[in-house]
Amino acid sequence: MPRLDIQLDGDGCWPDLREKGFRAGVIEGVALLAHGMQSGAPSVTFRATLDDGTIALVETSLVLLESGVRALRNGFDARRGVDSWTPSKLGSPTTKEEYEQRFHENTHASGFGFENVQQHTPCPFCAAPEWLVVKLIELETQSSKETICQECGRGAKTIYTREPGGVTRFEIVQTRGGDAPPWLPTIRRVEP
Ligand SMILES: [Zn+2]
Repeated sequence: MPRLDIQLDGDGCWPDLREKGFRAGVIEGVALLAHGMQSGAPSVTFRATLDDGTIALVETSLVLLESGVRALRNGFDARRGVDSWTPSKLGSPTTKEEYEQRFHENTHASGFGFENVQQHTPCPFCAAPEWLVVKLIELETQSSKETICQECGRGAKTIYTREPGGVTRFEIVQTRGGDAPPWLPTIRRVEP
């Protein structure tokens, strides 16, 4: 899976470019390859002409690009006090790909300013929207309690463990409801 570094404040971002240098260019085309990723998932290729005349093809996955564009839009809107996000139109997933897409589309942050930002987290089992909606600064406290999905009826909570060196590990565990779909990584069951 490729990475995509999303900068919601692009001014002066990527300071390493000063040392490494770069060429500038303009995107002139964008093309979808239905099975372009090694995993078989769709990829997106951008075509650009650089300032030295070189033609460059750069690619990412459709899912990453979509979540990147969404993050930029949300970040821009949040600055203006607007929230244009709407939950995914996708229904209950039947494959890992549908689950991942729905999970991406239903993951969202709203509000502006560290104290006010709310994290909208979809259900870990079916990716239904608004499973857990909490302020970022209260995320650990609130997600340590059981939350039940309105759509699939499963419950889950997060167990946080502090390790030496200031590292915090977390594990999502199932607290109630039917077994998780087979395409998900195993989620341990505990009492609520
Ligand atoms: Zn659910």
